Amino acid sequence: MHDLVLRGCRLPDRLEPADVAIAGGRIVSVGGAAGAARETLDAGGRLLTPGLVEAHIHPDKALLGDRVRATAGTLEEAIRLTGEAKRAFTADDIAARARRVLDLAVAAGTTAMRAHVEVDPLVGLAGMEAMLALRREYAPALHVQLCAFAQEGILGAPGTEGLLRRALAMGADLVGGCPYADADGPRHIESVFALAREFGVDADFHADFFDEPDHLHVLEIARQTLAAGWQGRVAVGHLTELGALPPAEQDAIVARLAAARIGVISLPATDLYLMGRRDARNVRRGLAPIRRLLAGGVPVALATNNVRNPFTPVGTADLAHMAFLAAVAAHMGTPELLRELVACVTTHPARILGLRDHGCAPGDRADLVLWECARPEEIVTALPARRLVVKGGRITVEHERRTVERWRASPALSLRFGKARNPDLGP
Ligand SMILES: [Zn+2]
Repeated sequence: MHDLVLRGCRLPDRLEPADVAIAGGRIVSVGGAAGAARETLDAGGRLLTPGLVEAHIHPDKALLGDRVRATAGTLEEAIRLTGEAKRAFTADDIAARARRVLDLAVAAGTTAMRAHVEVDPLVGLAGMEAMLALRREYAPALHVQLCAFAQEGILGAPGTEGLLRRALAMGADLVGGCPYADADGPRHIESVFALAREFGVDADFHADFFDEPDHLHVLEIARQTLAAGWQGRVAVGHLTELGALPPAEQDAIVARLAAARIGVISLPATDLYLMGRRDARNVRRGLAPIRRLLAGGVPVALATNNVRNPFTPVGTADLAHMAFLAAVAAHMGTPELLRELVACVTTHPARILGLRDHGCAPGDRADLVLWECARPEEIVTALPARRLVVKGGRITVEHERRTVERWRASPALSLRFGKARNPDLGP
């Protein structure tokens, strides 16, 4: 007896619809006769994909639009204004805003997430307290990794290193650095690796987030990754400076990233918003070179980063929007590249987060999304609604849509309440 059978799903790599049987939290068969199940649903030929994986988001400083007013729209201003607002954060305030973001993500089909939690003398461990409780609360719907993150620097913000150590002892899953926040980037990176080794955890850096290749801290990160033997355990977010180098130099760095098995997380909403701010004409896009990284064998995630704060004034925590943005901003419009963008919000981030068995094959974890479309490219091109979200073999979210096109109805019909047509159900 299976726990759940989804009949007639369209899968990304199969032409014909198939039945997907789930038991014990995993996919046990795809296609063929699925047999009896506690719950059976007709997918009606809709597309089934692995769950969305959010590789980089800041729930603790999300939804500040009503209390912080940015005017310059620069990175420096965003850090300053958010730092000022952060002094007034409490664990309850953080939890209330973070919960709204997590709810949006779960409803959109996100089944795993890496959340950066700021740990510094301004906010102390309030963010960790709030997010540790939410990690437990949301576990049935969302796997949450907490990254203890030094947004204000480590060397320039005395006390931060000790707070990061306490955050890791409290249960943070990994440590996050921000070398551009300190005058001595390499020493900052060294401190992060020292903590990663001390606690045996992964490391994730906000790095090289400028228009011109002024820092290229990624070279030092790659060097220290190899020195620590931390291959496959390090990620770099933003990396917009890489795109500013001549192509041959980009290729050389891409090869180093591939050799160190470093994942790259592109944050298109933030990067497009904050880069190129001083350009009066031919404004730069300020994105990591996504296509070049993918071609060089580097896993690339597209992630949300910020939701409605001075770093990014827009956001819904729906990763399909990031793929949509990247399709136009990174020139990725062919069917093959559109499918690659779907991988950038599913399988690539799963690899970067170290999540095993994230897919739609027998044996994979049953973390899945059923979409209101038939082909994977449409996830990017048409931002379809989600029909079902499955986490660990259980349906966590069911969406029902009802659209009443009153303008089509005859005057007589429009007067009869409750008789309007639901276009999803046919005539
Ligand atoms: Zn970030």
